[in-house]
Amino acid sequence: MPGFELFGDKERKELNDVLDNGVLMRYGFDGMRNGHWKAKALETALESQLQVKHAQLVSSGTAAVTVAMASAGIGAGDEVIMPTFTFVASFEAIMMLGAIPVLVDIDDTLTLCPKAVSNAITPKTKAIMPVHMCGSMANMDALQAICKKHNLILIEDSSQATGATYKGKPLGSIGDLGCLSLDFVKIITAGEGGAVLTNNEKFYTHADHYSDHGHDHKGSDRGAETHPFLGYNFRISELHAAVGLAQLRRLNEFVAIQKINYNILREALSRIPEITFRTVPAGGEESYSFLSFFLPNLEITRNASNALKEAGIDACFHYFDNSWHYIREWKHLKDLKSLYPISSEVKEGLEYLQTKTFEQSDHYIARNISCLIKLSWTEEQVKERAQLMVKAITSALK
Ligand SMILES: *Cc1c(COP(=O)(O)O)cnc(C)c1O
Repeated sequence: MPGFELFGDKERKELNDVLDNGVLMRYGFDGMRNGHWKAKALETALESQLQVKHAQLVSSGTAAVTVAMASAGIGAGDEVIMPTFTFVASFEAIMMLGAIPVLVDIDDTLTLCPKAVSNAITPKTKAIMPVHMCGSMANMDALQAICKKHNLILIEDSSQATGATYKGKPLGSIGDLGCLSLDFVKIITAGEGGAVLTNNEKFYTHADHYSDHGHDHKGSDRGAETHPFLGYNFRISELHAAVGLAQLRRLNEFVAIQKINYNILREALSRIPEITFRTVPAGGEESYSFLSFFLPNLEITRNASNALKEAGIDACFHYFDNSWHYIREWKHLKDLKSLYPISSEVKEGLEYLQTKTFEQSDHYIARNISCLIKLSWTEEQVKERAQLMVKAITSALK
């Protein structure tokens, strides 16, 4: 990660196809586009690469999560279980639909803890949304079993783990719905963009219509189409889809590069006895976007994080002190800072955030450092980095 590191001729060629014809919109204008349908081509490619029946492109990963939930009929007053460690987008998307985010502890996988999920289910629970953080995954068998037992919808956010698999299946293809992001810093990027993945015909049709003002996309006259229900504009543009198409074709290549770099760093860090690595659920194969490990306690982890920065090692995150990915620093959300009124039902539903503590999540996040694996490093650079990392972390352990 990220795919922009290796931009080149393939991306340029796809983009030029769009510019040469001038049709920047994904729907309509059939006569002008000389057969170029980049969004459609990218959807077909995603379906085959990620082994799902349907992919619906949208304007961002946040939009994908929003559209996925809307497509499954999640809305006012419904509770959606999400992890304490994620990107704020999970919380935002749930709020946007008037639903209630129910934050639940993570475990040593750095994703949803199945036991904590079971304990959080109420009669209002409608969906469980695991977020496959930092290139690895939640225990999908356990979460699927819980969803089956309680008749809940399973929505995977695989924005940070595109290219990873669980028991041979690509992440995003396992739940009722999957979401991915193609934003600028993801493993494959379109600049901005996202996708909803599903094998469910009804959810797919909903996603297709909802992300384009409710258009039913029947016939070839956009003005004459009917609108079965309320929708919004979450469309991706042809420009973004063109770049995404070139990048998707390189996904396997990117994962392979990451795996090599990841293994060099992991092998070096394995020599430090105090380090343990995040647990990958049985049958899981990471995308190797990050190398995530644990140190003995918070103080050592803070010291190690500082030592890494001082040694010039960039992109190693101690999320405990980072405002975007962990509940601890989400003050604006705990205080419900909103530009517009929020329903009393949602306000009441979120009161727990004022007092609830997440000791189990703290136990892992306080001691975790996750290092981004880059695509552009040379072998020498990775090896030098490995040495510097071992030195910096060893100094923090003294
Ligand atoms: C990046 C990301 C998103 C949001 O994607 P955008 O395309 O930036 O809106 C959602 N969830 C996770 C886990 C992410 O990392």
